Amino acid sequence: MLPYPSRPYARGMTLTDVTSAPLGGPALPQERRLVTAIPGPRSAALLERKAAAVSAGVGHTVPIEAVAAGGGVVVDADGNSLIDLGSGIAVTTVGNAHPKVVAAVQAQVAQFTHTCFMISPYESYVGVAEALNRLTPGDHAKKSALFNSGAEAVENAVKIARKHTGRQAVVAFDHAYHGRTNLTMALTAKAMPYKSGFGPFAGEVYRAPVSYPFRDGLDGHAAARQAIALIEKQIGAGNLAAVLIEPIQGEGGFIVPADGFLPELVRWCRENGVVFIADEVQTGFARTGAMFASELFGIVPDLITTAKGIAGGLPLAAVTGRAEIMDASHVGGLGGTYGGNPIACAAALAAIDVFENEGLIERAQQVGAVLTERLTALQTGDPRIGEVRGRGAMVAVEFVVPGTTEPDATLAGAVARAAIAEGVIVLTCGTYGNVIRFLPPLSIPDELLHEGLDVVAAALAAS
Ligand SMILES: *Cc1c(COP(=O)(O)O)cnc(C)c1O
Repeated sequence: MLPYPSRPYARGMTLTDVTSAPLGGPALPQERRLVTAIPGPRSAALLERKAAAVSAGVGHTVPIEAVAAGGGVVVDADGNSLIDLGSGIAVTTVGNAHPKVVAAVQAQVAQFTHTCFMISPYESYVGVAEALNRLTPGDHAKKSALFNSGAEAVENAVKIARKHTGRQAVVAFDHAYHGRTNLTMALTAKAMPYKSGFGPFAGEVYRAPVSYPFRDGLDGHAAARQAIALIEKQIGAGNLAAVLIEPIQGEGGFIVPADGFLPELVRWCRENGVVFIADEVQTGFARTGAMFASELFGIVPDLITTAKGIAGGLPLAAVTGRAEIMDASHVGGLGGTYGGNPIACAAALAAIDVFENEGLIERAQQVGAVLTERLTALQTGDPRIGEVRGRGAMVAVEFVVPGTTEPDATLAGAVARAAIAEGVIVLTCGTYGNVIRFLPPLSIPDELLHEGLDVVAAALAAS
C-alpha cells in the first residue's frame, strides 16, 4: 500500500478544511461511511440547482455533491464517504489530490497561470513532451504536441497523419470511443448517447470489425485478416491515412483483442504507408499494468494519444510519435490557446514522477490481481456473468442472459445503481450497456478495494 498519512476528518468539515490539510486528498479517512441515503439533503439540493442551471445534455452517474476526494474515497456534502472504483473515468490514477500534484499546481499557479505556449514558451511544456517521448513505446526519435482533452488529441493525431501521408481516409473500429467533437463523434461507434441527432459527421471515416473474442470467436490473426480485407476492398490502402484503435477499448466495454490482432494490423500499416495511431487516452499511464497498453501487445504505434490519467486530474492531452510524422505540419498548423497550459503541465510532471517513482505499474498489477480473482470467483457461481476481462487495474464484467451471449443491460444498470446507493462508485460501459467496469485509483487501500467488491457482489446477489 502507498505510504499515505491519515488525518482526522469530522462530519461537517468544509472543502477548505480538508484541502488546507498539510497533505490534501489522501489524508481523508479511508472508509466507506453512509450517514444519509444517497443522495442526502445537501446533495439533493445541488442536483436540483443543476437541473435548473446546467444543460440537460450533461448527465451524471453518482447523485452526490462531491466536496473532497483522495486515496480510495470520494466524500459528499452530506458527509458520506464513497469507495471510488471509477477514478473519474480513469483520470485520478495517481490518487485524487495527490500531494505531489497539489504542491506542483500550487507552486505553478502562484508563478504564472498562462502565457499561451504559442506566444511565449515555458519549460514545463517541453518537460512533459520530453517525458512522453521517453516513456511511450519504441526507441525511435519522437516528438509531442499538447492539447486540452482526449478528443482534441485524437483530432490532431488524424490531422497529423493526413498531412504526413497526403491521404484522407481514416479507419476506426466497431465499439470504438474517441470523443464528442465532430470528428471524434464520426470516429466513435455508438449512436446513443454519443451521436444521435448530432450529425452530419466528418467524412472519410470508415469502420472495420475489431477483435472481440467473447463475441466473434475468432483468433487474432483471423480477426485482423477480416479487418484488413474490408479495408483493402472498401477503402484501398493507397487512400488510407491512418488506422486508429484503442489497444483495449474503453467505453466500448473493456474489450481486449485476441493475441496477434494488433501486431498484424501494425505490420499491415507499415507495409502500406498507413499511420498506426493507438488511442491510449483511457489505457495509458500505468492503468493496464504497463505504462502503456501497447506494450502488453508488443506493438510500437506510430502515434499515441494520451489524456485522462496524464496529469492527476488537470485537463491535459497529448499526441506523441515518430518525429518525422509529428513534424509534418507547417508552423502554426497545430496548437490552441490553452494547449499545454502551465498549471496542467506542472501537474503532469508531478503525476509522471509518481507513475515512475512510486511503483504504480506494480500497484496496477496488484489491484488487477485482486479485481480479477474476486470477479472470476463471482463468475464461477453466477451464469449471468458472461466474461471477466481486462488488464491491470482496468477490469470489467460483461453481463448476459445465462447460457447465451445476449447482453443484459438491465442487470448491469441495476447492479451499478445498487452499489452506488450502498456507497460504492462503479461505472457501466459497453456498446450494449451490459458491462460494469472497474478502474479504481491506484492509491486505494486493499481493504477498501475488497469492501467495494463485497458491496458489488451483494448488489449482484440481490438483483
Ligand atoms: C475519454 C476518451 C476520449 C475522449 O477524451 P476527452 O478528454 O473526454 O475528450 C478519447 N479516447 C478514449 C479512448 C477515451 O477513453
